[in-house]
Amino acid sequence: MFKNFEAKIEKAREVILGPREIYFENGIKLVTRVGSDEPSLKFIKGDDKIFDLTKLAPEGTKIIFDPKNEWEASAKTKEIKIGKFTGVDCILTFLHEVGHINKPEDEDITNSAKSHYNHIVYNKGSNSDFSSDELLKNASKEIIQGERNAWAYSLRQTRTLERELGIDIMGKMGNVKQIKEFVDSFLSVYKNRYPEKISDLDIFSEEEIESFLIDQAEKRAV
Ligand SMILES: [Zn+2]
Repeated sequence: MFKNFEAKIEKAREVILGPREIYFENGIKLVTRVGSDEPSLKFIKGDDKIFDLTKLAPEGTKIIFDPKNEWEASAKTKEIKIGKFTGVDCILTFLHEVGHINKPEDEDITNSAKSHYNHIVYNKGSNSDFSSDELLKNASKEIIQGERNAWAYSLRQTRTLERELGIDIMGKMGNVKQIKEFVDSFLSVYKNRYPEKISDLDIFSEEEIESFLIDQAEKRAV
């Protein structure tokens, strides 16, 4: 009920104030409308639509606006939940969700790791065969790995967009260190949620982030 109310507010906001817009170089802007039944996320130049961000998700993917800003993807139901596009970082968050939905095999691994994890924690202290620390650590690792993969996709895809559209997206977020902090802040949530025995598990190093940002076309040209 409350969610619907918030969604209506955003819709009214769009009608009165216009869509949310994020401005880039060369007169290009990302125009987002999330209040309608079919949210649209389009890069526009003048009157021309130059790229539809939702096209990066597999055909038939349903994009759903969640006013609580809970970004989420499910390959099983072919749904991506998105929040308000309040800043340039939302592009990376959206592409992270696209990364999840483009890799359904990761979702299967993550889901079984999650139930495995819960099973181990739930049966702790009993005579369960699953009480070993090693199993818990592996389940946690698999969950985090799915997140890492989705971020790697997001960073690479953002770079490709920057090249193809001739705009600077990540530059607006800062340097490599700041982008690493942005990504790590999401990964830490998982690290905190599944803390058992993963304190030694690295999230991303600056070098790794840099490697995702190497322009793929440049790499091929070398
Ligand atoms: Zn994720």
